[in-house]
Amino acid sequence: MPQRRTLEEIRAELGDCRRCKLCSGRTNIVFGVGNPKAELVFVGEGPGADEDEQGIPFVGKAGQLLTKMIEAMGLQREQVYICNIVKCRPPNNRNPEPDEVAACEPFLRAQLGAIEPKVIVALGKLAAQTLLRDNTPITRLRGSWRDFGGIPLMPTFHPAYLLRNPAEKKNAWLDLRQVMKFFGKAR
Ligand code: URA
Repeated sequence: MPQRRTLEEIRAELGDCRRCKLCSGRTNIVFGVGNPKAELVFVGEGPGADEDEQGIPFVGKAGQLLTKMIEAMGLQREQVYICNIVKCRPPNNRNPEPDEVAACEPFLRAQLGAIEPKVIVALGKLAAQTLLRDNTPITRLRGSWRDFGGIPLMPTFHPAYLLRNPAEKKNAWLDLRQVMKFFGKAR
């Protein structure tokens, strides 16, 4: 069992990462943002153009929706921690490839180990399937509690998907209400 590291130590180990081919197209590594002692962590897929430019996850259109979702839960962005499966932007916003996920995932797992949140919300198919090692479609994974190494994990839709499919927002809200209920914030 590797010794638990702080987020700063994990970031330092990542360094000017060249472990996968995404390094050649990135502007900034998007490590993660928020409270290092967060009780709730959101995990997305990977940075888009805005995130790559600013080095901060979920700051573009999907990020604005995520911020609204967090606030609707009665929380502020600063209270939670937000990160992604891969830390560098895939070219033309294509999906991250398996070798890229494999290179980056140990750092995400180390981040989750450092934070030790009470709950993880996996945003979308890649986050849910990667963390759970389960290829079930997100339409079936969402809304049911799962276990991530002893931490309850709630899979839900990715905010970018919700922007394209607003009719699914009500289901995502049901998922987030379950998370609020876990924290005693919803009936
Ligand atoms: N989509 C993601 O999955 N992550 C981000 O940081 C931004 C958009």
